[in-house]
Amino acid sequence: MFPFTKASAKPRAAFPDTLSRMDPKPVILSFDVEEHYRIESAAGYDCPALQRDVYSARMETTTRKLLDLLADYDVRATFFIVGRIAESHPRLVRDIHAAGHEVASHSWEHRRVHHFTPATFAEDLHKSKDALEQATGMVVQGYRAPTFSVVRETGWAIDVLAEAGFQYDSSIFPVRHDRYGIADAPRSPFLAIGSQHRLFELPPVTLRWFNFNIPVAGGGYFRLFPLGILEAGIRQANLLQSPAAMLYFHPWEFDPDQPRLPLSRLSGFRTYVGTQRSFSRLRKLLTRHRFQRAIDVVEQLKGQTLPEFRV
Ligand SMILES: [Zn+2]
Repeated sequence: MFPFTKASAKPRAAFPDTLSRMDPKPVILSFDVEEHYRIESAAGYDCPALQRDVYSARMETTTRKLLDLLADYDVRATFFIVGRIAESHPRLVRDIHAAGHEVASHSWEHRRVHHFTPATFAEDLHKSKDALEQATGMVVQGYRAPTFSVVRETGWAIDVLAEAGFQYDSSIFPVRHDRYGIADAPRSPFLAIGSQHRLFELPPVTLRWFNFNIPVAGGGYFRLFPLGILEAGIRQANLLQSPAAMLYFHPWEFDPDQPRLPLSRLSGFRTYVGTQRSFSRLRKLLTRHRFQRAIDVVEQLKGQTLPEFRV
């Protein structure tokens, strides 16, 4: 059971003491919607069909609970959704859109960009974009690569994304990490420069500490570290040029009772640590900050001078 019910929820306006302390700058709230068996840590695991169905059903249930939570706080978010989900759960995608959230692409079936050539990546993008657009009737403008897999060696993705009609990307994590990241990329929104095109890039929030960017924007970092660390990252982001702190979460992170995947010790720890408390933590964030959809921030950035970064 989730510790949160609609009846007990209070809208943000009911917390004036919290409002006076909260940061007035908007934070971008995003969810990467994928079935749990698609996560990178389980890439080598051939999940049985029956178990896939279980994860698929739980993905829908948890996403709908998140939608209820956001409705209670009158918050709109961006949902980066795996394209196949638009085929398997078209009503869920339609309901996300109908609730005022942004529907964006999280690839066709959650394969990292490393697996593609520019041509096959373009096919993957079009399949995902078309399926999501058919479900909502709206143009998909944003993209997030599975496991933030736009890195130096896949930097060609920026040109392919621009050519596929995307307005912005949110796949470059300005950190040093074993799976992803471009450590010297800007920490606030920037223009990613490809060889022929440029694209708005919305990087997840980091906390600058000595010479390091600590990834604090979501996922395991959100569940493991005290919430104050994430919020310190938000405060730092708000002091940067064109402030827009991007947070990211996954529905499966809010489902502590789901069957566990057979992961290595380290991956299992990263994947499941803190899932019991993620719902209450998200609720705290919703009371303390003001949120916007990624596309709304991109619209505001259009008239501004942004840092440029060649990927
Ligand atoms: Zn993902």
